[in-house]
Formats: sequence, structure tokens, C-alpha cells
Amino acid sequence: MLSAYHDQLINIRRQLHQNPEEGWSEFTTTAFLVKTLRGYGYEVLLGRKVVNPDACLGRDDAVVAAGIERARKNGVSEELLNEMQGLTGCVAVLDTGRPGPTLAIRFDIDCVPVTERTDPSHLPAKEGFISKNPGFMHACGHDAHMSMGLAVAHWVMDNKDKLSGKIKILFQPAEEGVRGAAGMAASGIVDDCDYFVGSHVAMSAKSGELAANLYGYLCTTKLDVTFHGKPAHAGACPQDGRNALAAAANATVQMLGISRHSGGMTRINVGQLIAGEGRNVIPSKAVMKLEVRGETGDINQYMVDQVTNICKGIAVGFGVTYEMRKMGEAVDLTADPELVDVINDAGRATEGIKVIDKALNFGGSEDATILARRVQAHGGKAAFFLWGSDRPSGHHTSTFDIKEKDMDPALEVWTRIVASIMK
Ligand SMILES: [Zn+2]
Repeated sequence: MLSAYHDQLINIRRQLHQNPEEGWSEFTTTAFLVKTLRGYGYEVLLGRKVVNPDACLGRDDAVVAAGIERARKNGVSEELLNEMQGLTGCVAVLDTGRPGPTLAIRFDIDCVPVTERTDPSHLPAKEGFISKNPGFMHACGHDAHMSMGLAVAHWVMDNKDKLSGKIKILFQPAEEGVRGAAGMAASGIVDDCDYFVGSHVAMSAKSGELAANLYGYLCTTKLDVTFHGKPAHAGACPQDGRNALAAAANATVQMLGISRHSGGMTRINVGQLIAGEGRNVIPSKAVMKLEVRGETGDINQYMVDQVTNICKGIAVGFGVTYEMRKMGEAVDLTADPELVDVINDAGRATEGIKVIDKALNFGGSEDATILARRVQAHGGKAAFFLWGSDRPSGHHTSTFDIKEKDMDPALEVWTRIVASIMK
């Protein structure tokens, strides 16, 4: 019944796979989505209507500018770029005109800074659709997410006479580093939504599996900390310097020693530390990129508080100053059982799908939770599911790939979910 969308699912996924763009720079990608959605007949919202720039996390001006330049080279019109207002992502809206609920469904659009494998053992290389953007790759399956979102959009338009209520199809930028959802949520775009559903390909679900009974979304905060010291000649007058490198190195050791929490699981990683000017100069600047995670919002906040206290103490001890910037954020999610049932029923009705009933540990962070929680805060219901796919290697690796045939039953599940909510 849905075979009509099979070629579209594969072709668009492959086309997008060749043009990966990192978070907040997805201008070429957004232009493609907008044109395709408008072609189906949707009203498509862009720019500040869907992303509040004041709430954007981890948005780097240089990356944005490079994305706009790339879009120009790729032939994206100035008119469309103006409409985007420097912000990527878009939302397609369809009001059926019949009374009913408002449903938001969400697909993420960015890639990962991974260099794709070029030898023919990697199927995208063998079939000639590997990344054309060196150093970047759709290594988390967001290419398949977008293709799925467009296929659902196409199906909704083809079947709009049988549906009631309103649908908002969200194409969210900058999921990697959990940066994009906060800005989209703060635009208010989901505040009128009664239901929110998101999904991810693969993760812990194998080909044919569907999992909506998920727990263990880790709350996380991504932080950049910069220590500012004072340079001085290391031989002639070291006492005049304030060593930012030493401050950051000590802060790192202390952060890794933050006490565990009896209330639940915690994580911390200082993933990058760049400091200093040269061998004989007291280092005046150090930049740390770190993240904390916690099983609940409170425990995550405990980790943020401890990190902040350490920075304060180190600043006093080393005579330096520091700034802390929040670069990304995700929260936990308790899905609404009613909506989990809708998803599982859609799975059971779909040939080739096996529903995993038992609760499955999500075991990672996902910023769809911010949009989901925003809908729940306004009295709506939210859930998130995994549609399985066997993959040759882990997410974010150079040989990541999905089994494209898994997209067909997943599309059927998606359309059944939409049909049962917009009935
Ligand atoms: Zn992902």
C-alpha cells in the first residue's frame, strides 16, 4: 500500500547522505526540505517563526557563515536565504479544516563531524553516494530521518481528506550536541500541540524492531569554560603571570573527582582542553569543552553546580577569571502511556515489525525531549520511538549505515500513528 513511497525514501536519503551539514549550517539541506514540502502543497515556516535565536545553543557564527556561503554555491536563492534569517530548520503545517487535535512530529537534519570511509566495503561508497562534504558525514542516520519526514509529509498530503485536525512537521537543526531543540521550543512552535512524536533509527533496535517503551534518557548539559590568566615571561618574571593552563588542568582533575550521587547515575567528561601560547610564556588562556549527564534533571543540575563551584574555587586559587557558556542541553522524558500504546499498536498492525514491549534503556541523550517536555508542560502528550535497523558499525563512526529496506515498514508505522491521532 505504501510501495508508492519506496523509491522516494531511498532516493532522497541517498541524495541527503551526499550533502551532510553540521548543526546550524544546514542551509542547503533546509532549502531542499522547504522546496520539497512546498512542492507537496504545504505552508512552510522558516527563520524566527520556528527558531528563537536568543535560545539557540552552541551556534557558531563562523559555521553559520560557511553554511550560507556553501548554500550560495549550491544555487540556493537569496530570496530563500533571506527567508531563513540565518537560521536553519523549518516546519511544514497542514490544517485539514476539520476539528481535531494538533500533532507535532519531529525529524532532525544535521550531520556529524566524521570522515566517511571510501572503500567499497562501505555500501554508500560502493553505490556512489558517500559524503561530498569532506570531514562531515550523516553518521547518525539523520539523512534517513529527513527522508522519512518527507515521505510522511507526502503521504499526509495524499491522504488529507481522510484526516482531521492539524499537523506540524518539524525539521529540527543541530541535534548533535543537543543544541537545536531549545531554540525551536522557545519559538513557541509546539505550544499549541496536543501530541508530540519523535523517532530515531537504529540505536539499540535491530532491523524490524520497534521500541516506544523507552527509559533512561540522560539529562545533559554541554559547557565551554574559558579561563583567562595573565601572560608573563616564564624565565624573567613568572610571578607576574597567572597560569590559565594550570587552572584548567587542575579544574579537570577536580571535575573528574566530583562525588557520585546516590539518587542516580551521573557522567562527566572533559573532552577537550586547549591552552597556552608557547613554551616560555605563562599561559594566559585555556578553553575546556566538557559535558555532564544525570539520570534526572536534579542530578544533572547537581553535576552542573559542582562544576561551577570548582571553576569558582580554581579562579580564586590561581588568580584567574573564567566564563562559562552553555552549548547544549537535553532533558529526560517520561512518555505518556496512551501515546506509547498508539505507537505500539501501529507497530503490531505493520507487517515485518516486531514490537519490543519490555522497557528499553535509551542510554543516551536526545534533545527531542526538550520539545516533548514543552508539549507536556502545556497539557499535551509526548512519546519517542526507535525504529530498528541493523548497522555495520556504531553511530558516529565512519562506516555507519542503515539497511534501507527498514525504511518501508517504519514509514508504515509512522503513517498509522498519524492516522490514529488525526482520525
Ligand atoms: Zn542521531
